[in-house]
Amino acid sequence: MCGIIGIHGNPEASTLAYLGLYAQQHRGQEGAGIVTMDNGVCHRHMGDGLVSDVYADPATLARLSGNIAIGHTRYSTTGDIENRNVGPLYFNIDDQPVAIAHNGNLVNMSKTRRELQQAGALFQTSTDTELIVHLIARSRRTSMADRVADALKQVEGAYSLILLTPEGLIAARDPQGWRPFVVGRLENTWVLASESCALDLIGAEIIRDIEPGEIVRIDDNGMETSQRLPKKKLNHCIFEYIYFSRPDSRIFGVNVDKLRRKIGKTLAKESPVPAADIAISVPDSSNTATIGYADQSGTRHEIGLIRNHYVGRSFIRPEQKLRDLTVKLKFNTVKGVLEGKEVIIVDDSIVRGTTMRKLIKLVREAGAKAVHVRITSPPIRFPCHFGMDFPTEKELLAANKSVEEIRDWFGADSLKYLSIDGLLQSMDLPGDHFCTACFTGDYPIVPEEGSGKLMFETGINSMPGS
Ligand code: SF4
Repeated sequence: MCGIIGIHGNPEASTLAYLGLYAQQHRGQEGAGIVTMDNGVCHRHMGDGLVSDVYADPATLARLSGNIAIGHTRYSTTGDIENRNVGPLYFNIDDQPVAIAHNGNLVNMSKTRRELQQAGALFQTSTDTELIVHLIARSRRTSMADRVADALKQVEGAYSLILLTPEGLIAARDPQGWRPFVVGRLENTWVLASESCALDLIGAEIIRDIEPGEIVRIDDNGMETSQRLPKKKLNHCIFEYIYFSRPDSRIFGVNVDKLRRKIGKTLAKESPVPAADIAISVPDSSNTATIGYADQSGTRHEIGLIRNHYVGRSFIRPEQKLRDLTVKLKFNTVKGVLEGKEVIIVDDSIVRGTTMRKLIKLVREAGAKAVHVRITSPPIRFPCHFGMDFPTEKELLAANKSVEEIRDWFGADSLKYLSIDGLLQSMDLPGDHFCTACFTGDYPIVPEEGSGKLMFETGINSMPGS
């Protein structure tokens, strides 16, 4: 997962890109970067950490001059978490500057990367994004949009891409539409973003999604669809609705808030707890689903957990050591709400289970007399190869324990997950438009061996921001 933003036609392009990244901070907290173009010359600055840290000095944004900008918040799914992998990546192709911001994960990168290396290609980073750049550089077509199309015909997997080129911005989305991607306008300025919440923040109007398989070019003459990649069956990531996207975003044409409420209602129909006094959410991603659950079941909705918003999301951090620490720092209980109550904790998903186990202990310590857990997704039993950070079965709780074993390990009085049928019935789009591989193991593309979290030893320590 990553958040990307593209701005075309605004003298404050870097500031708008900064704001767009700020709104999409939840999509990646390991690093952020912005590249601008000013009369054919690129300026860039990137760094590790939150957007507000990377651009804490106002002079940094002021140095990023130009009417065109792209930006990226990084969350590593392939490659290590070193600074050299923070996007947008920046290269020269035929002596022309090109920068690229990518949200997604390619699944045929290891073989193609090996082949390119055997042919003499030198890789600067360990990201799959760089692979696309190499393929663009090898294309014999003349226009950049055509070269991008040539490259993308050779890759498989999930990608929403924005390239900053001397021809303007080029945006592309994989034919299966795995990740969200939206385009809008702020007066004469074009805005591209992973999520519509970025457009809302800067006051831009949403025009439409970039279509699956579509490649568009935005220049001073406007936006034109320049190519379509071969059509494939849609595979929107259903986990974007369950957990990842912000509830105020519109994803795959549907409001996330509305859908999460529906999912919560379905779960309440499937797995009510008639004796419960209150239903509480694990803030923030399950807030809206909990409202749906409480509405449907007639259980009082309460705020029983307070989240410290200055600590990052727990499962997004890549190392277990850090994850454990952030769980402890992140939540506090409201004793007056929980004391003596039979409590339902509603959460969106269980990946490794460390957060939920800790929360149940905290809720009991706050005086709850019973704790029931309701999860608004089916058990995650299979790795994701398309951009979500749960790549190995070893790390997935439900891949290694039965629901009853998980309940016991949690120390909960009951534990129920939403069924896959209930999840798909809650969608506003046909069920076969979604990828559900992490629940079912039914992968729309069989990933090439070695795809996923790869660590390459390149001997390069960092690519400094400038
Ligand atoms: S496997 Fe799960 S998380 Fe990955 S793309 Fe499919 S639905 Fe999304």
